[in-house]
Formats: sequence, structure tokens, C-alpha cells
Amino acid sequence: MGCGASAEKYASPGASNEKMKWLHEVEENGLALKDAPTKFRNDKDIVLAALKQKGLSGMALVFASERLKGDRDIVLAAVKQYGKALQFATPDLQNDREIVMTAVLENGIALRFASENIRSDREFLLQAVKATKASWLLNFCPKLKGDEELCNEIDRLAGTGLVFTYYQSYNCSAEMRESFVATGASVPGGPAYQYVMEKLREKTGGTATVWFDEMPVFGFSADNGEWVHPSEECGRDLVPVPPPEGRHPMWNCLVESRSKKVQAEVGSHHPCWCCHWLREVKRRREEGAVICCAVSNIYLPFWVDDYGAGSSELSDAAADKYGLKRESFRNGRPPGWGEGEINIDGKRFSRVAPMHPDTLKPLGEGCRWERQALDGLNFPVYVFFMP
Ligand SMILES: [Zn+2]
Repeated sequence: MGCGASAEKYASPGASNEKMKWLHEVEENGLALKDAPTKFRNDKDIVLAALKQKGLSGMALVFASERLKGDRDIVLAAVKQYGKALQFATPDLQNDREIVMTAVLENGIALRFASENIRSDREFLLQAVKATKASWLLNFCPKLKGDEELCNEIDRLAGTGLVFTYYQSYNCSAEMRESFVATGASVPGGPAYQYVMEKLREKTGGTATVWFDEMPVFGFSADNGEWVHPSEECGRDLVPVPPPEGRHPMWNCLVESRSKKVQAEVGSHHPCWCCHWLREVKRRREEGAVICCAVSNIYLPFWVDDYGAGSSELSDAAADKYGLKRESFRNGRPPGWGEGEINIDGKRFSRVAPMHPDTLKPLGEGCRWERQALDGLNFPVYVFFMP
């Protein structure tokens, strides 16, 4: 981007030097439109060029003239790039079905800024949920909320398991927590974990976690990793440990507390951490919370350097290399999983999980189990790279 040849592409024949200068400026950075003289913020060539750059440049619509905020081509280009730019469009375009749908496909939060007319339209909402599996869009349609038949149809369209629709959005999950009750059910461990938890707890919905402190509990795997806890009750929770002969392999494990790991004595009983966590997730869901899951613990970009925050995606090649279970989900997984970099609203992050300092395995061993368990539940769980 930003080479002279493409500036010519947007310019009308005979464009002035000053216009060419601003075309170059906005090609370098769409948000530079802010500093352009009024006449250029009302120039379709320049505004369109600003909106079509990568990253958050769709946001530049806020700096366009009032006339262009009501121009259909301009607004469509803006919401395609940045759904929430819908908030800067004129009321008639906030009531334009194609524009609103384009915005919602880019970012579901954009539905907030649609006209009341559209937010009261059953068919529009069903179409949007069908395309995104985001049943939570209903939260932006207060007039439709009491309709039980509609709610059932929405649940059916949203399906079950992990949903990756807005996986690459920088702040969709944070904005969900601002807008309605959304609970973070899973976040990778490591040094950034506690900081993410603090951020999630700031809002209603908070986190679904269970904590037993010094009490030894059963974990998510047993029998040297051959047995993995299912999405249902396992049958170990507070059940006396049977004698070794002929017992189920799920009993062949240590129990772990905050500070130690010990052998589970025959006849003793311990809570199962996984059963308690799954009950907590289901209880939150019953109470009406939207359940979310974060694949990285990178809340802000600088956390990568300051707290060693990172991805917990595991590629098949890395899984095989470390003898871990490959990750697969019923709705599939985003392309490039666990490899290279991911582009989140114009910022790039490594998708390769860093080594956890304690386990010496790729970050997120526990949260990878949590993902598999969440994927097996009978409701959708919304997954994001950024917590
Ligand atoms: Zn269990």
C-alpha cells in the first residue's frame, strides 16, 4: 500500500497536486483524513481511498463530510472494513438492510447502531444469526426478546459447539461484556492469566472458574493422558477412589492442589475440578449469560512483551511433536491454526503458542482441554483470539 501508482487509481483525471498529496496521505493511513481540509473530507475519491486501507481505516468515516456519511458507496466501503462505522452513517443508511447486514457480518456489535426499524425485524435477525451463528445479536433487538418461538429458532440456527465467526476481532469479546452478560469460560494460563482474569471480572458476567486452593482435586486427564475428561460428569467427583484392580483408567492419576500433587488413596474422595467447572459454565448459561472462550491471553498488544502473553493455538504438527492431542472442533477451526501470524484488526500476533515456563509444553494445555469440553456442550460458545 501507499505507492504512487495506486493513488492515481483513486484520482479523477486532472486532479490537483494538493488532492494527490491527500490521496497519498490517506493511503498511508486512512485515519489521516482527520487532518485533511474540509473540501477533501467531502471528496469521494479521497474518502473512498481512506476507507479501503487495511486495519481500522473504516473508522475514518467519522472524519468524512456530512454529505458523504449519507453516500451509499462510501458507507458500504466503510462498514465492509469496519462494521461499527455504521454508527457514523446517516439515519437513512442505518436503516438500509444491505448496509446493516454487511456491517453485522464484519462485527456483530454493529447491530447496536442499526435503525430501530431493522432491530425490530424478525426476518432480518434470523438471516443475521443464520449467517453468523451469533445468537447474542438478539440482545440488540429489545422488541423481539419476548418472542419464544423466535428464540427457539435462533438457538437452532446458532447450533452448538465453538463458534469462530468473529475470532479475529480485536475487541468484540470486550464489547460483548460491555453490552450484555457474557462470561469468559476459558483463558490460557501462564503469567498473563491473572491479569486477564482481573479484566474479565470488571464486568457483569465475569468468569466461570472454580478454585479449590489447598484441597487436592482430580484434573482433566488420567492414565498418562490416555483418558481425557468428557463434556459430561465423569463419575469421580467426591466418589471414593476404588482399589486399583480392574478400575476405570480415569482413576489412574494424581490429585493436585495449589501447592502439591499427591497419589489419590484408595477409599479417599476428592472433588473433580472439571465436573465443577462444567457445572459452573452450564449454570451461567442457564442464567442467561453468553459463554465466551479466549484462545490467547493477549488482552493488549504490549502484554506479549510485558507478561509473556501469547496464543494457545496448537497446530497438528506441534501436537504430534509434543505428543499432545490434535485440536478439532465440530464447526471446524480458522485456517492457519497454530501457524505463523494472525492479523487482528491490522495488528499481527504469533499464533504459535510460546513454551509455558512450568510445563515446558506449548502454552494452554488446560485451556485446550477446556476448548474440547466446551465444544461438546449443547449450546454455542463464542471463541475469540483476544480475550
Ligand atoms: Zn469430572
